[in-house]
Amino acid sequence: MPFQKTIKKEILISGIGIHTGKKINIRLIPAQRDTGIVFYRKDKDLSIKAKLPFIVDTSFATTIGIDGVKIRTIEHLLATIYVFGITNLIVEIDGSEVPVLDGSALGFVNAITNAGIAKQSKTMPILKITKPLIYEESHVRIIAKPHKGFRIGYKIFYEHPLIMEQFLSFEINEQTFIKDIAPARTFGFLKDIQYLLKNGFAKGGSLENAVVLDEKGTVGSPLRFKDEFVRHKILDALGDLSLIGYPLQGHFIFEKGGHTSHIKFIKLLIESGYYELQEEPYFNFQLNPQTV
Ligand SMILES: [Zn+2]
Repeated sequence: MPFQKTIKKEILISGIGIHTGKKINIRLIPAQRDTGIVFYRKDKDLSIKAKLPFIVDTSFATTIGIDGVKIRTIEHLLATIYVFGITNLIVEIDGSEVPVLDGSALGFVNAITNAGIAKQSKTMPILKITKPLIYEESHVRIIAKPHKGFRIGYKIFYEHPLIMEQFLSFEINEQTFIKDIAPARTFGFLKDIQYLLKNGFAKGGSLENAVVLDEKGTVGSPLRFKDEFVRHKILDALGDLSLIGYPLQGHFIFEKGGHTSHIKFIKLLIESGYYELQEEPYFNFQLNPQTV
């Protein structure tokens, strides 16, 4: 079983929210054992755990909330926190959305790498998939199956010359995440932007924080990978899977999903009971009570 972890020192990150368009400051604060990942809305003095029961919205981003107080677009930060094995962290935020930065997770990766990771003196149970599970709804299919590591595969299809069908599958670890997944940016279609704006989304969206596609190609900066689109879907899926709240062991395969179907699938997985939580071994004792 892995040890619980937090960060060695505080981290400040500022930027705009892709949907609200507002400038937001976040402060990542080291947290004690068994805290979990907790968002703290400083302006509302309210804490919300980054866990499944607190998800209140999944349209265009994953949003947690309590009593109408929300925090939107948590998925790229959560994916990064998960990959570094961070299990205890306070994310203090002064607005309703995590900054989008450049549309990828690279800014979070760099900030956390600079701060460093602190191992804590308690272990964390792993959630291990024990039986295959299939979730299907119209064109979406998501599968979980037993696997000795943690793997995510994703297949997308968009009728666009730069995308069409893309499939990628990675064993998820710090190396693959930093090199192959974290740099992949959010993408959107020029034809959808009018609709998004009318419905109060993408107000902060720009060519600096998203790959924008017209009928033929990209508008603005070139692609970082020719299959940047499917890589970004893996980033989103990882962020959503992390809301289960445990390190994962299993193989997850997504076909044409989005945040809404990711979360429906995760709820089905929890209800199915097709997993086991590794118990604390009986010889697990407190190694050093002085450490956080
Ligand atoms: Zn995303």
